[in-house]
Amino acid sequence: MKKLLVANWKMHYGPIKAGGWIRAFRRERLPKDVDISVAVPFVSLAAARASLGRASIPALAAQDCFWSEDGAYTGEISPGMLKEFGTEYCLVGHSERRSNLGETDEMVAKKAAAVQKAGIVPVICVGENEAQRKKGDASKIVRAQVQAAIGGLKADGRAPAAIAYEPVWAIGSGRPCSAQDAKQMHEVIRGVLLKKFGKASEEIRVIYGGSVDVRNISEYVTTTGIDGCLVGGASLDPRNFGLLCRAANPA
Ligand code: PEP
Repeated sequence: MKKLLVANWKMHYGPIKAGGWIRAFRRERLPKDVDISVAVPFVSLAAARASLGRASIPALAAQDCFWSEDGAYTGEISPGMLKEFGTEYCLVGHSERRSNLGETDEMVAKKAAAVQKAGIVPVICVGENEAQRKKGDASKIVRAQVQAAIGGLKADGRAPAAIAYEPVWAIGSGRPCSAQDAKQMHEVIRGVLLKKFGKASEEIRVIYGGSVDVRNISEYVTTTGIDGCLVGGASLDPRNFGLLCRAANPA
């Protein structure tokens, strides 16, 4: 299975800067054996698509999505709207949305199902916070988050989702989770996926996110069971993200 590397710009880069990032990133030497995507703010999807032209690398991703196709949901964006930009992936349930906007497991599940139905791969973000880890509850919390989030997904040929294990305490903190600890949590996640999807779960990538940078990425991508990375801060510079993509190449 190819590694998956997803850049998450978070709330950075409107349409003007987005185009520049894409053009600069396209000048990087990019590995063929890594799937690369970039999650951009909604308002930057059009500019990113225009700068990509016919190119499909990096694949476009959104950072969120609503669960209905249309209707009285002022301010929301539907999966079908994302599809119009050729969006291939969509982050769902990022911890910053769970904590800043009160997104619940139930909302995450509805979003994941709607995104999949539209033919976009949901990248479902899960992860325990620091207090939960200290209490020894990390596995229990993450297992419950994954179980809830995948409730409405269907195993219909292509991988129904990717899961990003992102311990909250590691995001943007400069305190990454060790590859060995991440591996343990990925095994917990794999167990839940196997139970729901059986053999088809083997197609689902479980990636790690949380303070990934050029110094530590190779530890993650060389650890069995870690199928790639979700990268926030270290993806803001397109050359740096290019370096990460090359480092993720197993060849
Ligand atoms: C993220 O935004 O999902 C993330 C993992 O951020 P960072 O790489 O900055 O920790």
